[in-house]
Amino acid sequence: MFRPIRGMKDLYGVSAKKYEYITEVATKIGAKYGYSLITTPTVEATEVFQRSIGDETDVVSKEMYTFVDKGGDSITLRPEGTAGVMRAIVSNNLAQSLPVKLMYHGEMFRYDRPQKGRYRQFHQVGAECVGDKSPYTDATLICMATEILSGIGIFDFKVLLNTLGDKETREAYTKGLVKYFSRHEDKLSEDSKRRLGKNPMRILDSKDEGDREICQMAPLITDYLSKESAQYFRKVCELLEVCDINFEVDNFLVRGLDYYSETAFEFKSTAGDYDDAIGGGGRYDDLLKVFGGADVSGIGFAFGVERLMLLLDDEKFKEDIRKVAVIPVTDDENDYAFQLLKSLYEAGVPSEFIHHGNLGKKMKVADRQNCKIAIIIGEDEVKNEVYTVKFMDCTDDREKTKSVAAANIVSFIKHNL
Ligand code: AMP
Repeated sequence: MFRPIRGMKDLYGVSAKKYEYITEVATKIGAKYGYSLITTPTVEATEVFQRSIGDETDVVSKEMYTFVDKGGDSITLRPEGTAGVMRAIVSNNLAQSLPVKLMYHGEMFRYDRPQKGRYRQFHQVGAECVGDKSPYTDATLICMATEILSGIGIFDFKVLLNTLGDKETREAYTKGLVKYFSRHEDKLSEDSKRRLGKNPMRILDSKDEGDREICQMAPLITDYLSKESAQYFRKVCELLEVCDINFEVDNFLVRGLDYYSETAFEFKSTAGDYDDAIGGGGRYDDLLKVFGGADVSGIGFAFGVERLMLLLDDEKFKEDIRKVAVIPVTDDENDYAFQLLKSLYEAGVPSEFIHHGNLGKKMKVADRQNCKIAIIIGEDEVKNEVYTVKFMDCTDDREKTKSVAAANIVSFIKHNL
């Protein structure tokens, strides 16, 4: 028996319906905000991620599915959506008029330790707005993300918000962090000791318990903010208040990827005991430039679709659509019944053609498939051009069966289904 690869799941039934629902609602709301869909390849040149996400991040240093293909090139299954979208904007010259607003959804891959809500293949739905740097843009994007959550029926959440400042801020903050962490170097994890020399802000994102304890007393970025970044962040907060968004400032939120600057945020559910982020995002200044595009800033977010799915009630996705069973009594009526099936599909009526076994077996199949109405077509029905219609759930014998003229059958079914 073959099983899916560890940490990867088949989506079917309720989970497939939830996936479809979430992505549909998100794209519809995105369209209102001016976002159009983009689908980029699942694999990119490894460098696309290395250059943008950052070598010292967990995602790049530990979690990427990287292979050498038959041509000897290093390729990687995408661990996130933003880098591919930036690459696509440059490859297709999409940044001729700014801003470029794109949405995507699809599978992402991270070689992480599988657990509830954490998989090796998962899905994200996300959006990127490139070429319009302003607190108004940031607030609008966060509004859109929260509208997507409420649009799919998730109301109990909060937004954690931080600023990662501009380059000047991060340079000063990095120095402050080096000074602080150097004093605790002997207690840092091996990974963080390495990060200390290369990218000390990454230590704030460490999952190691010992590192986390040391991080609690680390200096805050707010003490290093340039005047412009402080002003920018204040305005974003003010606008989110105007939008009535439930947010909390969390100065240790650095996000798991290197490319962020200024506004950074994460969405957390407040409904139950599920503590991992359901989504996140932020502003990035250099990404397009990294791929050879213009020197313009962007902002984006992504939700983890499986994590949203965990928060949606299964029951709501269990209802089957109401459908009709078209049942020829014997094989002799198959072709005749098939004509009716075709007319029903053309009229938009969900239908099943049930034509194996004897009539008793066919009725059982119709019942198992949850058909609400069965149209039975035997020799007499063909001859008289009148079909026998059975309402499967009806308990009143007088109402259960009706004869309907062939000429009226489609409109009768549409009316009664
Ligand atoms: P990130 O940009 O890494 O914060 O990812 C954005 C969102 O994707 C997260 O908030 C999660 O909802 C989701 N996500 C990230 N990694 C995984 C994973 N391994 N399994 C399931 N969802 C994930």
